[in-house]
Amino acid sequence: MTAMDLKCRICGGAAGERHVACEMMYGSREAFGYFECAECGTLQIEAVPGDLARYYPSGYYSLDGTLPKQPSLKRRLAAAWAYSRDGGLAGWLCHALKPNPEMRLLGELGIAKDDAILDVGCGRGARVARLRQFGFARAEGIDPHLDQDIEMHGRKIARRARLEDVRGLYRLVMFHHSFEHLPDPHAALEAARALLAPDGRILIRVPTCSSQAWTDYGTDWVQLDPPRHLFLFSRDGFRRLAAAHGLKIDRIDDDSDAFQFWGSEQYRRGIAMNDPRAHSRKTPLFDAAQIAAWDAEAKKLNEAGRGDQFAAVLSRA
Ligand SMILES: [Zn+2]
Repeated sequence: MTAMDLKCRICGGAAGERHVACEMMYGSREAFGYFECAECGTLQIEAVPGDLARYYPSGYYSLDGTLPKQPSLKRRLAAAWAYSRDGGLAGWLCHALKPNPEMRLLGELGIAKDDAILDVGCGRGARVARLRQFGFARAEGIDPHLDQDIEMHGRKIARRARLEDVRGLYRLVMFHHSFEHLPDPHAALEAARALLAPDGRILIRVPTCSSQAWTDYGTDWVQLDPPRHLFLFSRDGFRRLAAAHGLKIDRIDDDSDAFQFWGSEQYRRGIAMNDPRAHSRKTPLFDAAQIAAWDAEAKKLNEAGRGDQFAAVLSRA
């Protein structure tokens, strides 16, 4: 493919700088071309692989594992305090020790416990299960990669479906690190918009190339994750995408963490995510002091709007 053929799939702009990045989650090191849009800055894969499913083998992390067990009293107290400031001093203390930013966001957005919530690209439904445990009775999930419905206590909480096939109206349609995996963000956003109740919101959490991590690590940036991440939105590109669908951005919060550093440092050293030498609690590659320093650094980047991922809340303009 020549540079002339490449056009930004977000804004239609011409291709700018091009990059070659290697698959490093499984360590196949298969190479993929990416380019930055000269207009909006969004980083994107040059050609979407025709056989994307091949890159989501069985055991892919979000499709693996069991549903979360009943949350402890501490976690329930923290969640209640985060959501509605309930639980007094005990709630406050539990939240101070282990905050629950997701519940806090739901509270701030005024999402009620009986509101319909859709988690798009929910994997095995862990997040939906947790929402149900915290009382959100109408939370449900869809994922095109599921091989069977997911049930909890005999009730279906997640099913195999594509966004375009969903019917109904939702107070909240959420994408937690699934949006960057979709080949057509315009179609996905339009489909999500069509599912919004009159006062509905869309929550999208994605990695962004408008970040210090992309600037510093380049193609070793862990969240590039070729070829699964098809779009690494720039902040400008994301705004343009929302505007193209009559959506406004109500708020945007960076929520990056130490992973951007330890994951990228690891790739820079040629260590794949599934390599036995990779950083884990059992076999730490980086010591606790280093991780704590990176946590602090991530917090600073988030405050400066330079974290490597954000959570955006959208509503009809
Ligand atoms: Zn663009």
